[in-house]
Amino acid sequence: MKRICTALICVVLLLNLSSCAFVDSISNQKEITRTFTAMNTVMQITVFNTSEGTNEEVLNAMVSRVEELEKLFDPNLSDSDVYKINNAKGVPAGKAATDADKIFLDEDTINILMAAGSNFDETGHAFDIKLMPVIELWGFDNGTYGVPEDTEIKNVLEIVEKSQLDIYSDEKYIVISEGTKVSLGGIAKGFLGDELLKIAREYKATALLSLGGNIVLCGDKSTDDTWSVGIKNPADTENLACSFKSKGNKSVVTSGAYERYFEYGGKTYHHIIDPKTGYPSDSDLLSVTVVGENGTNCDAWSTALFVMGKEKAVEFAKEHNSYDFIFITKDREILKTDGITDLKVEDEAFKIKSIPQ
Ligand code: AMP
Ligand code: MG
Repeated sequence: MKRICTALICVVLLLNLSSCAFVDSISNQKEITRTFTAMNTVMQITVFNTSEGTNEEVLNAMVSRVEELEKLFDPNLSDSDVYKINNAKGVPAGKAATDADKIFLDEDTINILMAAGSNFDETGHAFDIKLMPVIELWGFDNGTYGVPEDTEIKNVLEIVEKSQLDIYSDEKYIVISEGTKVSLGGIAKGFLGDELLKIAREYKATALLSLGGNIVLCGDKSTDDTWSVGIKNPADTENLACSFKSKGNKSVVTSGAYERYFEYGGKTYHHIIDPKTGYPSDSDLLSVTVVGENGTNCDAWSTALFVMGKEKAVEFAKEHNSYDFIFITKDREILKTDGITDLKVEDEAFKIKSIPQ
């Protein structure tokens, strides 16, 4: 079976999916697509075939899992785990934790917090879910945007720097210091993608998932079974900067300043925060794409590498050669690692350069 299907980051995905409808020659099932809103973004799942049940069963299992995780991670739902964390009193400085300070959480929440913790270390603290108080100050948590005073940012950043989150994974609880709040916005969709890929594997299904800026290619790797993935042009988001070929069972995650921003006083303020300054990152990158089997890491890293900027991001890519990376820079370069094959530039303004790994 040969499949060439175009999976594009975000909006353009819809158009291209409709141009590759087919009835699978093995299972004789028609592909099935559902588009819905979850985790504050539009998601689309297309199941092409399965050898364990029907496409509809796979789709329903995936949508149920999305709903389960959304109920845990939505900071605005009063019985979610993230709400519980963000509204807990926390242990005051200099005080010892007591049993009353234990915040018991679902296993999924414990798992995502552990992944966030290891990526905090792996990225030299560029990825930090504890930035929530700063994110709130800018209004990126709920869309009430505004430019805070320098002193406000400094004060809140001090709270973030002192904040602490200790995970007791065996007993499934955490303890936080007073003032600690978390935002899973930079990692939740990657984690969700991994969970949905597990479902695809259980059902031996081929599926394409578009989860906001994240794409998950679920499907067996065979020699000519490749997907074609487009990366949005950050300078012209209606069009592509480039496209490339990928094998299945991988996540392709992109972060860019163009994804969420507001304008004030002639200046643009975007949603990816530099933990060192508390301001939107003044990055020399326009977008970062990470491709790999662990979508949770891809998601955390795409956010973090945007903050780190070109030089450090290139070093990081060299040190993580089981993943692939595409960096689109402000000076119109597309930097790509060797595992990105058949890269096609869709906008001649961009020049390709290789990152040796
Ligand atoms: P992404 O679109 O995956 O790059 O994630 C961006 C989202 O993650 C933002 O909307 C914030 O909720 C959150 N965020 C912003 N800056 C950071 C950071 N430096 N580390 C972790 N999460 C962040
Ligand atoms: Mg991310």
